[in-house]
Parts: sequence; structure tokens; C-alpha cells
Amino acid sequence: MNQDRLIGKVEGSYPGPLVIVVAGLHGNEDSGVYALEEVFNIIERDRIPIRGKFIGLKGNIGALKTRERYVDYDMNRCWYDHHIHALKFGQAERKSSEDMEVLDLLHWIQEESIGQYTERVMMDLHATSSENGVFIVIPQEETKLEIPKSMHIPIIFGLEKKIGGTLLNYFPSQDFVSFAFEGGVIGSEEAIKLHKTGVWDVLYASGCIQVEREERHHDVMEYIQNDHRPHPPRVSVLYRHAINRQDNFKMLPGFSNFQKIKAGDVLALDKTGEIKSPIDGLLIMPLYQDTGNDGFFIAEEIE
Ligand SMILES: [Zn+2]
Repeated sequence: MNQDRLIGKVEGSYPGPLVIVVAGLHGNEDSGVYALEEVFNIIERDRIPIRGKFIGLKGNIGALKTRERYVDYDMNRCWYDHHIHALKFGQAERKSSEDMEVLDLLHWIQEESIGQYTERVMMDLHATSSENGVFIVIPQEETKLEIPKSMHIPIIFGLEKKIGGTLLNYFPSQDFVSFAFEGGVIGSEEAIKLHKTGVWDVLYASGCIQVEREERHHDVMEYIQNDHRPHPPRVSVLYRHAINRQDNFKMLPGFSNFQKIKAGDVLALDKTGEIKSPIDGLLIMPLYQDTGNDGFFIAEEIE
């Protein structure tokens, strides 16, 4: 087990939940790593009592070093049962950088999961390349919504129908309440603040810490209030525009998350010309970086 993966770990003497927070599964999204370091520092400094266990783990160590999304393959598109099984039991060659990262991360999670906990929570921290990107992504079938709802930010369902192999989609089968937290723009100061707030929220909502910290909601609430665009509380993903490097995909400037769009609106350009929205809906995660295979998503508001 690579000791460099451990950002921090605190354990209480009273029973409680297991809260595992993964940061930097995409190496260019390092805000979560800094946020977790600060949260662990405050817990130590203020001697905040813990119930259960709270552990912070780096996702893709190799990619974090160079601040690239990944080295050989996207570490948030590979969590398929067959791939994990092949890695674990040696049917795969384990040649790539991410193969070793996935195995090591799994090893950490399995070791740290041993024991009795009131609940198991897996939070995966990300940042986006577009504006207004503060939301939670959860698997469609997830029914335990108390913790994600406690954060008072939009929730996106059904992304797994459009992109496979995400970490958040693997861990429900391992008996975790599992979700991703998208906390602002990649590389921004604000993203670190948002991630810290999100982590405090989850620690409190899961019962890992008992004292509600005053600054808990401050950053997220301020962010939402300062923003004039509507924030639908829950949306379901309807459409994904898949891209590859040869497409020369370029999102037109100025789009942000949850922006209302109409069928026929020109959203982007590629080598074939204009890319128009096929449906009415809300734009999610328009791509403003030159890495990744998802140009944009379109969602609809749900009850
Ligand atoms: Zn990410």
C-alpha cells in the first residue's frame, strides 16, 4: 500500500460511521486534496471528537504529481466489476499507471473498511472546467439521500446511464452510500473552500462529528446566493455528447451548468461544423478543457 495515498485519518473511541473521502481521482482536480488537508488540520488543532472513522485518500497519485487528468486511462471510467476482477486476480497485465493506482486505492479502502460501522459513506471529490459547477452526482437507484441532501445543493441522477465505470457507481455494490461532489472550477481558490464545506457537511450529516461548525454552510450558501441562474434541486441526465480527440470539439464560450437550452441551440463546434442541442433541457458539465471524452450533458428537472 502506497503511504503517499493517505491524506489523513482520524478514529474515535465511540461507534459511528466510516467516512471515506477520495480526492484527485482526476489528477488535475487537486482542490479536494488541499481541502482535506485543512479539514484534518482543524480536527487535530481543535481536538474535534470523532465517532467512527474518517479517512481521506488521494485518487490518482501519478496524475496528481503532474496535474494531468490521468496518465494512461481515466481513473473515473474504469470501475467495472469485470475490470476490477481482472486486475485483482491477475487476468489483466497490470501494465498501466492507473491499473496500479486502482489496485492500491482498492486495497486501502478494503483494509480501512474492516470493522463495525453504523454506515459506510464514500465521497468522491471533483471539480469542473465550467462555471456554476457545484452539485452532487448520485447513482439513480441510491435511496439513502439524507447525507447528499444535507448539503443543500443540486443533485444529479442518472449520469451512470450515460457514462460507465465511475467510482461512485462501483461502491454501492460494496455496501457504501456513494456519491460524487463537484465543487467548483478546477484550480480555483473557491473550489478548495467549497470542498472543505462539503466535507464538513458530510462529516456532520453522517454523525462522524457531533458539533455543527458555524462556517459549515457559509461558502456554499454564499456561492448559490451570489448566482442569479436557477439551481434546480434535482435533475436526471437525458443526453451525453461523446467526443474524442480527433473531433476538434470546442464548446462555444459562456455556457454554464444548469443553463436552460432549447433544441436547435448551437452549443459547440467540431470538425463537422455546428453542434446543436437535440433536445430542450438544462446543460450540465460543458467541457472547457482539452481533456476528457464528454463534450456536455443535457438533463431535465425531476421531482
Ligand atoms: Zn473529475
